[in-house]
Amino acid sequence: MARVRKVGVGVGVAGVVVVAVVGVLAAGRMGGGGSSSLTVTVAGRSVDVADGTTLGEAVVQFGLHPRAGDLLDVNGKVLRAGVVPGRLLVDGRPAPAGLTLRDGDRVAAVDGKDRREPLVRRVVSVPGGLPADPQYTVSRTPGEQVIVSGALSHELVSAQFHPSGAARVERSVALTFDDGPSPQYTPRILATLTRLHARATFFVIGYLAAAFPKLVRRELRLGMTVGNHSYNHPEVPPFDELPPPLLRDEISLGASILSRLGARPRLFRPPGGSTSPALVRAAAALGQRIVLWSVDPADWSPGRSASAIAKRVLSAIRPGSIVILHDGGGNRSATLAALPAIIRGIRRRHLHLVTLGPEPATTQDAAAGP
Ligand SMILES: [Zn+2]
Repeated sequence: MARVRKVGVGVGVAGVVVVAVVGVLAAGRMGGGGSSSLTVTVAGRSVDVADGTTLGEAVVQFGLHPRAGDLLDVNGKVLRAGVVPGRLLVDGRPAPAGLTLRDGDRVAAVDGKDRREPLVRRVVSVPGGLPADPQYTVSRTPGEQVIVSGALSHELVSAQFHPSGAARVERSVALTFDDGPSPQYTPRILATLTRLHARATFFVIGYLAAAFPKLVRRELRLGMTVGNHSYNHPEVPPFDELPPPLLRDEISLGASILSRLGARPRLFRPPGGSTSPALVRAAAALGQRIVLWSVDPADWSPGRSASAIAKRVLSAIRPGSIVILHDGGGNRSATLAALPAIIRGIRRRHLHLVTLGPEPATTQDAAAGP
């Protein structure tokens, strides 16, 4: 028997093949088939069909429907459904609907595979520099930001910073306050800062921010930067050793409280200052940069006096220092009392008091920090 193509159909384009099936079917039946039969395999099953049956007829007869695949965005969400056609194969090769089947042919329908949208890569020069991630000092490193995103969805896939030079340390010092807000101490620390025209960065605990939203709003109103210090402040095990889903929850729950209170949560300080490359990546994926510190007067230490705290800060600071203090988590009266001496001492050295910047989180390829 001759192998006849009854209808010329684009090979490999299932949409066209299936549309052509009906016409082929009608033509085939009108032409009349022989009464003898042949055995073919359809979708793995051995079946008898009338001599002269075409691929298109077999598709209808046995209900073969190759499913079309979807176009997905970078997160796996469907951008366009059913745009990658499935295919009909005879003996493993794409075949047109009009192909007359031969004894022993194997007919198969192959679903269209889901496709991911293409990626675009942009390189943005950052001559002014970006803070390191994790950040230990007030400094900026010049370089390029390589941003990869979905070509259609524009969803961010990764942002990597490639430094092109040494970090430039600023003639600034950043005071940071952790573990608040505290109804007892935060208002008094804010009052002292305001009286001395100083600004600071507060890393607040999510559940406390939720309990005392007015204090966070007051921090923002007074020009302070508010960062994320996790939701529950888990301390055991070390933060970077938490199971990844829990770690992400701590970061994102803390951030969502801050967003609700009008702060842009760009900075994350892990409880206990524990960090790791995986934690940096997890925070960066949630749009946050890890901020640690370079000067720790251990103001939380029981019995530490105000003068001891101030002395430890002032003997350790240099341009670019980030100082960790606490406005919550215990009796903070020594910290409060040390604050004026700390601020005046910093200014006597002609260093500016700054809050930490809101630059977006990046993953840093080069080693950063001390
Ligand atoms: Zn803390």
